Amino acid sequence: MISYPFEYSRPDTIEEALDQLGDNVKLLAGGHSLIPALKLRLSAPDKLVDIARIPALKEIKVEDGEVVIGGAATHREIMDSEIIQEHLPMLSKGAAAVGDPMIRYKGTMGGSLAHADPSADWPAMILAAGCTIVVRNKTGERRIGGDDFFTGFYSTALEDGDILTQIRFPIPAEGTRMTYQKFTQPASRFAIVGCAAARLPDGSARVAFTGVADAPFRDHTVEAAITDWSEGTLEAAAAQAAEGQNINADHYASEEYRLHLARVYCKRALMALV
Ligand SMILES: Cc1cc2nc3c(=O)[nH]c(=O)nc-3n(C[C@H](O)[C@H](O)[C@H](O)COP(=O)(O)OP(=O)(O)OC[C@H]3O[C@@H](n4cnc5c(N)ncnc54)[C@H](O)[C@@H]3O)c2cc1C
Repeated sequence: MISYPFEYSRPDTIEEALDQLGDNVKLLAGGHSLIPALKLRLSAPDKLVDIARIPALKEIKVEDGEVVIGGAATHREIMDSEIIQEHLPMLSKGAAAVGDPMIRYKGTMGGSLAHADPSADWPAMILAAGCTIVVRNKTGERRIGGDDFFTGFYSTALEDGDILTQIRFPIPAEGTRMTYQKFTQPASRFAIVGCAAARLPDGSARVAFTGVADAPFRDHTVEAAITDWSEGTLEAAAAQAAEGQNINADHYASEEYRLHLARVYCKRALMALV
């Protein structure tokens, strides 16, 4: 189908982009979620503001002891970044598992997080890695803890007029290990279930899921059950995965099967960190 007509602009800076936001104006990044929605006429903005080439949103750098990924950095740029490979290799490997080459060349981390598809890969990874999301609007800047960012089905803490400008990760302490394991939808490569886990030097863990429920989530029950990294403890912890969550069901996986997958992939992720 052909979308409703809209105006298009491509500002060079974040400030210019912010100036152009207003009623029924939408940001365009990689377009891999927004353009299909426009073509299906599920969305009818009057104007698209294309932020995909704003240099300040493309940066991947180390700053103030944190790894900083610009909101419009593509999956491919994250995959190829030496900074990411050195400090957060889970993100580099995880990027390689997003979609196919075309998706990775155009799709952006900021676009994926803002869109908050319940089966997207990045949400589980950023929650397990521990991050802060930086947002700008016309009145200033605010920082949102990763754990507070996803608020429900395709919902986030972003407000009208916001641009997600950066995703910031503390440089992991020596000895930290992270992994992302997913059961892949074979056509789109989205996660039917994805589990990201981080093993911290003090023996604690951060465990997060995507694909399982309406929104990605940290699994504090599993995290609390990891009292040591023996196989028995990890198996018992993984057996509690997604406890209390409203498990999704669709034509790819029933509720029961998804819960089973969550526990299998949780154990797989934890065992990968032993
Ligand atoms: C065939 C196919 C396969 C895919 N497979 C996978 C997969 O395996 N795993 C996976 O995780 N994803 C997958 N995706 C999704 C893909 O990663 C998209 O790129 C991503 O969901 C959206 O990013 P985008 O840059 O394309 O955003 P866009 O489509 O441009 O924008 C999406 C939404 O976010 C808003 N937005 C964009 N950038 C910002 C910003 N910086 N600040 C605030 N709001 C913003 C837009 O206004 C829009 O509402 C797939 C998509 C397709 C079409």
